[in-house]
Amino acid sequence: MEAREVFDLAIIGSGPGGYVAAIRAHQLGLKTAIVERDVRLGGTCLLRGCIPTKVLLHDAALLGKIRRASKHGFNTGDVEVDFSKVQKRKSVIVGKLTKGVEFLMKKNEVVTFKGNATMTGPGHIAVEGNGSTTQVRAKHVIVATGSEPKSLPGYDVDGQFVITNNEALDLESIPKSMVIVGAGAVGVEFASIYSSFGTRVTLLEVLPQLVPIEDEDVSKELRRALKKQGIDVHTEARLESAVVREGTLEVVFRTANGEEKHVQAEKLLMATGRTPNTSGIGLEKLGVVTDDKGYVKVNDYMESNVPGVYAIGDIVPTPWLAHVASHEGVVAVERIAGRNPVPIRYDQVPGCTYCEPQVASVGLTEAAARAAGHSVKVGKFPFSSIGKAMIEDATDGFVKVVTDEKYGEILGVHMIGSGVTELIAEAVASIGLEATAEDLIHTIHAHPTLSEAVHEAMEGVYGVSIHM
Ligand code: FAD
Repeated sequence: MEAREVFDLAIIGSGPGGYVAAIRAHQLGLKTAIVERDVRLGGTCLLRGCIPTKVLLHDAALLGKIRRASKHGFNTGDVEVDFSKVQKRKSVIVGKLTKGVEFLMKKNEVVTFKGNATMTGPGHIAVEGNGSTTQVRAKHVIVATGSEPKSLPGYDVDGQFVITNNEALDLESIPKSMVIVGAGAVGVEFASIYSSFGTRVTLLEVLPQLVPIEDEDVSKELRRALKKQGIDVHTEARLESAVVREGTLEVVFRTANGEEKHVQAEKLLMATGRTPNTSGIGLEKLGVVTDDKGYVKVNDYMESNVPGVYAIGDIVPTPWLAHVASHEGVVAVERIAGRNPVPIRYDQVPGCTYCEPQVASVGLTEAAARAAGHSVKVGKFPFSSIGKAMIEDATDGFVKVVTDEKYGEILGVHMIGSGVTELIAEAVASIGLEATAEDLIHTIHAHPTLSEAVHEAMEGVYGVSIHM
């Protein structure tokens, strides 16, 4: 079957890259189609990523607050967790949002094709679904097919014992024990979720620090906080084997000092990275160049080497983040529509991890700033000296600012603590506007707020923090 019209733009994949691109395309007057193989729209972010994990993290944090309520004078007694209700609330939120994306597609006159898309020639897409194939034709194609979790070689995901983030999100009951391999954002978020719900969590990271892309001080503070919560944290640790014996896993790993450790666990969660969905969709046939890891090579405007074929989101070698995917979608569409989009400044993208305590950052770490040849001056301020943090019983963590000594230009801001994923927006805007620490010292921050820690950290660059 052939779709009647030739679209200006067809987008493959309805994640935060694809669906946002589709809406922007309609706004710019492009006749647009979107193809999605999942029964629901929204992609990894909405169905298996950002949203469902944050529901569980929110509820895990809420449980922690209730358990600490006696400190505030509320005697709640033992708190019983009905995990099926927690999971149901998560599904309801995901369901509402996916319906919201469907509504937005209709409102913006984007034609949706449900099925698996393969590019069969320039501007030709075959969509297989419901036992038939529909041919979709378009002048331009944006590929936004996202990524899938990747396990380590030799550790096959069986969905029962060895799991990925996909299965970890949908567990029917709280496991008694879990080994998590990989302490990037996904690994530490699940460590926070299940540890808060009572699972005995062992967290293994092969690199020397947790959340390896973050500033070293932040990583150290996170390690301290996770250990305080009872999580067994090991860096420079290597998974050696995982064997199922009498219905439970025996996991063997080697610690940094070479010691062999054995842990019994109900689940082994592989949070060991993701792989881009770029094979089997016709890219090779069109001659689209990918790198050795399968990422599509694109220019500043998300154009591949093949005219008319664009790639965005998790299939290009840029940070795996929903807001990056969406922004890339907008840049690609504006380019197609003949606008003059501003290329993305990847060095100004905020990264947020919603573990407990949260981590948020933008710009250069202290080590990266020094390695880049900057003469670095650092300011740091702990939440333990902030009134609002005391009020909220959230005194763990700090704000750290990395500046260039000459003019006080802000090169990076790194935060760990409660609510920092909201606080980071100010730092992102400041770096985008090339602000200096002095600019932010002259910016009045309301009292009492957690944002005062940002202000005080800026003052700290010059050794003049008021409440230090
Ligand atoms: P995706 O969201 O993966 O969407 C791709 C879509 O393409 C999918 O719906 C897929 O079904 C469809 N598709 C693939 N192949 C085909 C085909 N051949 N035909 C038709 N359709 C196809 N990022 C954040 O910014 N914040 C977070 O808090 C966050 N949390 C995360 C938590 C977890 C556990 C995970 C796994 C990821 C998280 N991410 C987060 C990352 C974020 O989800 C991704 O960066 C984002 O979803 C990428 O968007 P995308 O549009 O490129 O691809």
